[in-house]
Amino acid sequence: METTAGKIEELRNLIRKYDAAYYGRGESLVADQEYDALYNELLKLEKAHPEYASADSPTMRVGSDLTKEFPKVPHSVPMMSIDNTYSEEDLQEWVERLQRSLPGQNLSFVGELKVDGVAASLIFENGKLLRAVTRGNGTIGDEVTANVRTIKSIPLKVDYSSLFEVRGEAYMTFQAFTKLNENYIESGQKPMQNPRNTTAGTLKLQDSHEVSRRNLSFAAYSLLDEKHGRSHFENLQFLSESGFPTVKHSSLLHSKEDVLAYCRKWEKERHQLPFPVDGVVIKVDSFSQQKDLGTTAKAPRWVIAYKYQPESAITQVEKIEANVGRTGVVTPIARLSPVFLAGTTIKNATLHNYDEIVRLGVREGDYVQIEKGGEIIPKVVKVLTEKRIPGSQIFQPPSNCPSCGSLLGKLEGEVALRCFNRSCPDQLKASLEHFVSRSAMDIRHIGPSLVEHLLQWGLVKNVADLYELTFDKLTGLERMGNKSAANVIESIEKSKYNSLDKLLHGLGIRMIGAQSAKILAYHVADISDLYEMPPESLEKIDTIGSAMAHSIRMYFDREENRTLTERLRSLGVNVKGTSAPVEGKLSGKTFVLTGTLAHFTREKASEEIEARGGKVSGSVSRKTDFVLAGEDAGSKLEKAHSLGVTVIDEVEFERMLQ
Ligand SMILES: [Zn+2]
Repeated sequence: METTAGKIEELRNLIRKYDAAYYGRGESLVADQEYDALYNELLKLEKAHPEYASADSPTMRVGSDLTKEFPKVPHSVPMMSIDNTYSEEDLQEWVERLQRSLPGQNLSFVGELKVDGVAASLIFENGKLLRAVTRGNGTIGDEVTANVRTIKSIPLKVDYSSLFEVRGEAYMTFQAFTKLNENYIESGQKPMQNPRNTTAGTLKLQDSHEVSRRNLSFAAYSLLDEKHGRSHFENLQFLSESGFPTVKHSSLLHSKEDVLAYCRKWEKERHQLPFPVDGVVIKVDSFSQQKDLGTTAKAPRWVIAYKYQPESAITQVEKIEANVGRTGVVTPIARLSPVFLAGTTIKNATLHNYDEIVRLGVREGDYVQIEKGGEIIPKVVKVLTEKRIPGSQIFQPPSNCPSCGSLLGKLEGEVALRCFNRSCPDQLKASLEHFVSRSAMDIRHIGPSLVEHLLQWGLVKNVADLYELTFDKLTGLERMGNKSAANVIESIEKSKYNSLDKLLHGLGIRMIGAQSAKILAYHVADISDLYEMPPESLEKIDTIGSAMAHSIRMYFDREENRTLTERLRSLGVNVKGTSAPVEGKLSGKTFVLTGTLAHFTREKASEEIEARGGKVSGSVSRKTDFVLAGEDAGSKLEKAHSLGVTVIDEVEFERMLQ
């Protein structure tokens, strides 16, 4: 029989292992709920058997995100953990306990969404962001100011000059997360696990340009300032009025019933939110009551997190099929016995790549647990091996393309399997769908089913063929009326006038997304400039790194691709760069940029100026209208002063752009 001491030790070891993976490598080895269950089981056992107490139990310490790469900063007030529960009963008991502790007093609470991200502390002095620090071990944290500065919703400057601290959650919206993962998958890399782990990893990157590209968000949930406010809710309102993004949908609650109603409401409605929420946080509103209630060794008594069970379901994997993307990456997909989950019927789950199948150990016929984390397609989180059907086989990845039959392979350094056949039908279909999509050429009247028809009937073999479609050719297709055909022709015609970036994005050059395409389009007068541009010149363009430069070269070095773009030109599609002067509110004004800006890369700032008709020059002269000076501005700033040129800071610049 298992001894209590043995059980406690086993739980401790397991939790230590999970902690090491999570805090050290940003990896979750188990679902949160499972982790919390183990943790609470250990806590209960330790309470019931104080004789086995140990100072090195994981329950005795708070988790730590400290890494050696960043300077350490102590927190003025420790960032403590919050007690949490999955049970409504616990929550009710908590409210009743507080009421007993403060007899005769009226208790009000603030309900807040528990955004699933990473806690950060921001120190402001003289109205400016001075320092940003991670939670660390709760007492000291890593200083990540440069990275936090890139979060666009955090104000650079506020009209409140005392020294104060704002705490909140850095997080990633589902949109930002999905976009990042699409890029990873398309470029054959391993995708990120979930928005929270990705946020944690992003805050600890050494390259703040990369942080900026990943588009983090921030939601403030606490103001630490002795001179301010009598209640938490007042402070939240003050933060919001001062320009801070606060946690949305916070609400003042006056009774136990209010608290429960708030929790139940968001358990359902959180699925409509554009960011991950894993529960709600309930706080006592009044600061004097918070003070009276005090804290335990680990957590304040006046706050509790009520966490939601993740939406998951059990179903059977009927088949594991393969999907070929537009760049030839082959992705395994689990076809499931239909199951109802978070409001929809689920038939497919993503398995990301073939390494993931090995990691999960999933086989055809297995029962699996699937979870929906806000992404559109749910994922398989666990195989129920105890329900495995006898005689099932270990799954073997395909050796040939499911679409064209050619041999699959891997590129060096990638995990993804690829089909290298350029005329592979599935790749063709996916690349046409991408070309007509909204963020690319935006040909609205061509959807996936029409693409399939066009390919089937041989009317289209590549994207240029779209521009040779005629009304007669289209009306010859099944189920295509005159009106629809006219709409299709009209939207194709309209797309000829798109700016070059939409075309560059639409061509599906590896690693070149909508944003990079914009930057490229600003730097060329004509698409043919890219035919010969050496990698060194490409890399000089801000945010185009060496991998992207390599990918652009790979694309345009192929004669068939140059032939394609020249054919598009002759069919009337715009191939001219977007650097041509524009009329706008900055027309005729010349800017010189110097120093580092918080919210813009130099490239982005130039783009914004040029988009409004202004010009950006590399050196200061009497003809310069404005010098935009960021942090650590150098000799250009001195020259501006000596020539009497107007110098503006970033705040002023942002105002000019509006
Ligand atoms: Zn193929």
